[in-house]
Amino acid sequence: MPERRSVSIQGIVQGVGFRPFVYHLAGRLGLRGRVWNVRRGAMVEVEGTSENLNRFCRQLVEDAPAGAFIERVQADPMPVKGDDGFSIAPSDRLTSGRGLIPGDLATCSECLAELDAPSDRRYGYAFLNCTRCGPRFTIMLETPYDRVATTMAGFPMCPACRAEYVNPDDRRFHAQPIACPACGPRLSVLDGTAAPCASEDPLGAVVSALQAGRLVAVKSLGGYHLACDASNESAVEDLRRRKRRNGKGLALMVPDVDAAREYCHIDAREHEALVSAQRPVVLLTRRRADVPAGVAPGAPCLGVMLPYTPLHHLLLKRFGGPLVMTSGNRSRRPMAYRDEDVRGELAGIADLFLVHDRPIHRPCDDSVVRVMLGRPVPFRRARGYVPLPIKLKHRVACPVLACGGHLKNVFCLAEGDHAVLSGHNGDLESAEAVRAFETSIARFQELVGIRPAAVAHDLHPEYASTRYARSLSGLPRIAVQHHHAHIAACLAENGVGGPVIGVAFDGMGYGTDGTLWGGEFLIADYGTFTRAAHLGVFPLPGGERAVHEPWRIAAGLLEQIYGERMETLDVPFTRRLAWKQWEVLRRAVSARLNSPLTSSAGRLCDAVSALLGVCPTATYEAEAAIRLESLAGSDPAAAYPHHLEHSGAGRPLVVRVEDVIRGVIDDLRLGRGVQMIASRFHSTLADVIRSTCRRLRAEHGLSRIALSGGVFQNARLLAETVALLSTEGFRVYWHNQVPPNDGGIALGQAAVAGARIEGRQAEA
Ligand code: ZN
Ligand code: ZN
Ligand code: FE
Repeated sequence: MPERRSVSIQGIVQGVGFRPFVYHLAGRLGLRGRVWNVRRGAMVEVEGTSENLNRFCRQLVEDAPAGAFIERVQADPMPVKGDDGFSIAPSDRLTSGRGLIPGDLATCSECLAELDAPSDRRYGYAFLNCTRCGPRFTIMLETPYDRVATTMAGFPMCPACRAEYVNPDDRRFHAQPIACPACGPRLSVLDGTAAPCASEDPLGAVVSALQAGRLVAVKSLGGYHLACDASNESAVEDLRRRKRRNGKGLALMVPDVDAAREYCHIDAREHEALVSAQRPVVLLTRRRADVPAGVAPGAPCLGVMLPYTPLHHLLLKRFGGPLVMTSGNRSRRPMAYRDEDVRGELAGIADLFLVHDRPIHRPCDDSVVRVMLGRPVPFRRARGYVPLPIKLKHRVACPVLACGGHLKNVFCLAEGDHAVLSGHNGDLESAEAVRAFETSIARFQELVGIRPAAVAHDLHPEYASTRYARSLSGLPRIAVQHHHAHIAACLAENGVGGPVIGVAFDGMGYGTDGTLWGGEFLIADYGTFTRAAHLGVFPLPGGERAVHEPWRIAAGLLEQIYGERMETLDVPFTRRLAWKQWEVLRRAVSARLNSPLTSSAGRLCDAVSALLGVCPTATYEAEAAIRLESLAGSDPAAAYPHHLEHSGAGRPLVVRVEDVIRGVIDDLRLGRGVQMIASRFHSTLADVIRSTCRRLRAEHGLSRIALSGGVFQNARLLAETVALLSTEGFRVYWHNQVPPNDGGIALGQAAVAGARIEGRQAEA
């Protein structure tokens, strides 16, 4: 007796070749019926013997295609209809609910083989793709994911592509961005004034320009890249100057893993990350010094990625060597991605433009990961990962929009057991960046179908993201302390409930007492936290400017510790100090003028970096700390003595940073090398964390620790801290899904808001 079942599949099943998979599975089991896409996944009606139907439902999950992410399968009996066979039916565009969309996927090996095969009709075609690879999120206008709902809608398929598209046995069956030279997007070249250049061979023209040391803007998957020859020192300098880029490392694109190996050490995990379908920029330890200094001055790592679109493959193959590929934008502005940006944002920067006529609908920056302790830790979670949801073990009570922080902004929409994070919106420091952030929220909400009933934001009253949250009238607002959000993000992605000891070593975030926190030990769960201990405070002479002039912080610390005697220390730092300028600043500090106090671990690293003469002035936030890590190497050294102090009953314990700085100064006076001192300082921070956590375990009975905050992007510190804590019997959690930096706090804000709303509902 045949039976019929209606099977609803929820999760990411669109744009990954799921329907053809279902079609073939049904065929193999001799089942009849149909499959179609709905907003939140796919629906199947299928009939056959009960035994085969059971097998079908099981294999649906077990054998699903690699890109699929199946959350829930529900099968219900229904009356038999007696179909002729199994078919793929048109999408149902009317059903409601949340759509889940895959991220953009790097060109697969089968497509690459075609790209290189002279006999193939897509030989050398810059826009080939299939159900397993190609653009997704960046070209999607709305869900469900069908060609008409993408920026490929304007390219009618030629008969040959159409035949592949409708053939269930073809690799391109229902590949929405399917294209070929006869019907798909085309490359063209524009000159520096954005006027079209007649060229038979756009790639050839671009390759010669690059070889001549010129700057080329390349329209990639999620926006424009600025490219130049990475081995040409003056081209690299030119690029930095024209885009007014600070000293931050520039990403390299190399033809293949072997080419990357020439410049960097690559272990098995790093190799895996490099070739993954997400194709992030992977931060790799340098091997050779002959990459032009301007690519990543003073940093321990080079950011390297492999080509991820057919266009990149063609370009790199013809060019032969590594290219700098950095996002195309001016300093402090969002990445350019619209066709009109060629005339606007990028005018005067690039000498030549390599463009095409497939519009980018949603900008998406390159992702950045660093493999630490054998697992990739995202520093920037964007292309390839967005908009894949983070699964929450602790559900949020109502739909929440979390607005994120100020630097490296990412926002988050969460509902139930799902948190969907936006891509990287950059620092919200310009009107353009804030506008892009607001547009992105509106568009993202529509795409993922979460309509927020509450909004979470940082405690800082002046953040643009906070102001945006305040502007949303009618929604309940939840303010979340910055470091509580960091720790909650770590708990949420690890599926851990509280309470834990949260160690937030960070740049700076607004504290509940109005000072700038950043070296915090919190006893935290999702709903609440207490500040159990923190690094001792020190001044930031001149406020914000101290972030870019770490020598000010160093001098402030010396003043705090040694007072007048600072002048007689006779170490290289005091010998080089601009005493006149310092005299003015020190008066400001003692009068408490524009010299806020901070407990930031990041700023403490900056100060030590300046004391050692490694980086007295910085061109971007945390540059001094990054250079210090580079200098320190990876071998643990003897920690400087340090102490925990009581600051009064019911008040947090304080780590005396003065002791640590004294240790550094004593070593300098003994003539110890700066490399050794940098190493001892790293070991000291790890040891401070160990001894403070030991104390807190004794007082609070907690033995689980969450590590978060931008300072844990430091591989040396993370490894040493985790090792020390583990030998003490702690269970330690850190980040692998969202960044430890402020790119991760939106997830934490959403988790905290969810818990607080639930608490209120329970009270009511
Ligand atoms: Zn492919
Ligand atoms: Zn075609
Ligand atoms: Fe932070």
